[in-house]
Amino acid sequence: MVEQTQQAWDEECDVLVFGSGGGGMSAALFAARAGLQVMVCEKRKYLGGTTATSGGGIWVPGTPGGLAAGDTIERAREYLRWELGDHYRSDIIDAFLAQGAGIVETLNTQTDVKFELSSWPDYHSDEPGGAKKGRTLFPAPFDGKRLGRDFALLQPPMHRIMVLGGLMLGPDEVPDFLRPLSSVRAFKRVFAKLARYALDWLRFGRGTDLRSGNAMIASMMYSMPRDRVSLRTQHALVELLKENGRVVGAVVQGSAGTRRIRARRAVVLATGGFPHDKDMLRTYGPKFPHKQSLGCEANVGEGIKSALAVGAAMDTDLNSVANWTPASVMRDRQGREIPVIYGYLDRGRPGVIAVDAKGRRFVNESSSYHDIVSAMFKHSGGEGTFHFVCDLAFARRHGLGAVRPWPWTRSLSSFVRSGYLTMASSLPELARAIGADEATLTETVQRHNANCKTGVDVDFGRGATAYNRMFGHVTGQPNPNLAPIGAPPYLALRIHAASLGTTIGLKTTADAQVVGVDGQPIDGLYACGNDLAAAFRGRYPGGGTTLGPAVVFGALAAQHITKLTRPAD
Ligand SMILES: Cc1cc2nc3c(=O)[nH]c(=O)nc-3n(C[C@H](O)[C@H](O)[C@H](O)COP(=O)(O)OP(=O)(O)OC[C@H]3O[C@@H](n4cnc5c(N)ncnc54)[C@H](O)[C@@H]3O)c2cc1C
Repeated sequence: MVEQTQQAWDEECDVLVFGSGGGGMSAALFAARAGLQVMVCEKRKYLGGTTATSGGGIWVPGTPGGLAAGDTIERAREYLRWELGDHYRSDIIDAFLAQGAGIVETLNTQTDVKFELSSWPDYHSDEPGGAKKGRTLFPAPFDGKRLGRDFALLQPPMHRIMVLGGLMLGPDEVPDFLRPLSSVRAFKRVFAKLARYALDWLRFGRGTDLRSGNAMIASMMYSMPRDRVSLRTQHALVELLKENGRVVGAVVQGSAGTRRIRARRAVVLATGGFPHDKDMLRTYGPKFPHKQSLGCEANVGEGIKSALAVGAAMDTDLNSVANWTPASVMRDRQGREIPVIYGYLDRGRPGVIAVDAKGRRFVNESSSYHDIVSAMFKHSGGEGTFHFVCDLAFARRHGLGAVRPWPWTRSLSSFVRSGYLTMASSLPELARAIGADEATLTETVQRHNANCKTGVDVDFGRGATAYNRMFGHVTGQPNPNLAPIGAPPYLALRIHAASLGTTIGLKTTADAQVVGVDGQPIDGLYACGNDLAAAFRGRYPGGGTTLGPAVVFGALAAQHITKLTRPAD
């Protein structure tokens, strides 16, 4: 049912938000701060969605720290013009650049949601308008204990990618954990962190020293004016209700059964796109066949489908259907495939190369996760996998996929036995084991090792950009991103394309109001996060490409709802 004539409401609020990731929580927070009564309905038993398990980085140019680092909004605009090319939508980018930094500043100064400038360069910092620093911010650490009983509602981090199943580390803490015995200071810091984690486990069943996306969602929960925000878990959007051309509420499936909830001002869709809806992925992304996603499993396009049912339009003219990361795949006890993200530790480090089915390199391995998978799609012409190849010394130092650096992983045998890793005593043997061509793989490794000596990656320019060099090391070689693949045994890890979230989504105005198939905004209906078509159009300018716009357009939706929409009587 879509058009309603006679309504019998079970509950009312001013703004009804579906989804509790970065997009939905931003909209809820800004609407509540403006004095509106807000209800956030989250389908799962936890709040936070993909956002809570993410890095939590936001790409937002023009913040005070960014300007102090020498950046300008005009340079950021130039960069986005270069990045987005023909897909550039000036109304959306203008709104993002004009308002983004102010929105982050409001959070930083008037709420407990704090973002700190990082030293991350743009992913194409050498291109026109690119910046070597100043546009990527990360959430400040947050103490989960401040949430009191609400801490139990927060989505836990992804156990399989964390040390000891859930210990969250900030980038500044990683070196200590990699070399805990390197100094007394490192040892003390590691010990203190582990001791707190152990005590937290006893008391809460998880760590409370929150970082990254977990810190972001927790601080948003904490900052909500609780007299004006009702946070409902296990409440799923079923259907939008429309009256006289305006969206006036929704049918919600919750613990108390099916309820009709009136939204006096607006409904905001923030259900995280459709990374787990196979039909939608086939329809909107036929050129990007893939099976894996690290997005929240509940994100199956329900927000988008409900909007389409009330006449909304999709915006499909994007570079890609999703943002990508390489992922290896493990199996859990039930035999289900579990994607393991291409992590920060081994990502693009010197001494690992990516090879295609024949055993040839096809990409600069130190480029961004999104660019590596995009290159794979282009190279393979469709669904494909590739392998990371390295020697044992590399895996001991950096880890490899789910393998942690020594001493956190001491033996690789179980990984090899389960088939997760392939290990061989020679390159031809490794090639045979992964189905590649023996001579090609051997020649590829020899060529790579020769590049290490000259310091020039003649094929893909590895080590040329600031982002590449972030993953470099002093290796004794002229190029910090290049180190030879040395003595056997050799390792190969099969890699698949995995989405971080989808990019194609609802067409909206620059105020995040959903546009109908007639080209007109639909009164009372807004979208943010991955339910709206990505501002960066399936390109990945830098760390925080999805959450920057998610936070900004969530806030812009709230501001528009507050200013322009009159309550329906
Ligand atoms: C490991 C990892 C690291 C990442 N790091 C970064 C990063 O640092 N920076 C960055 O910009 N991006 C990052 N990403 C991508 C980013 O996390 C997502 O694109 C982003 O979180 C999407 O936000 P969202 O609000 O749209 O959706 P989500 O955060 O997924 O929230 C959507 C919510 O909607 C709920 N929902 C679904 N259907 C319904 C329904 N019918 N009714 C009610 N609720 C519903 C879901 O349960 C979910 O909680 C990362 C992704 C991963 C997997």
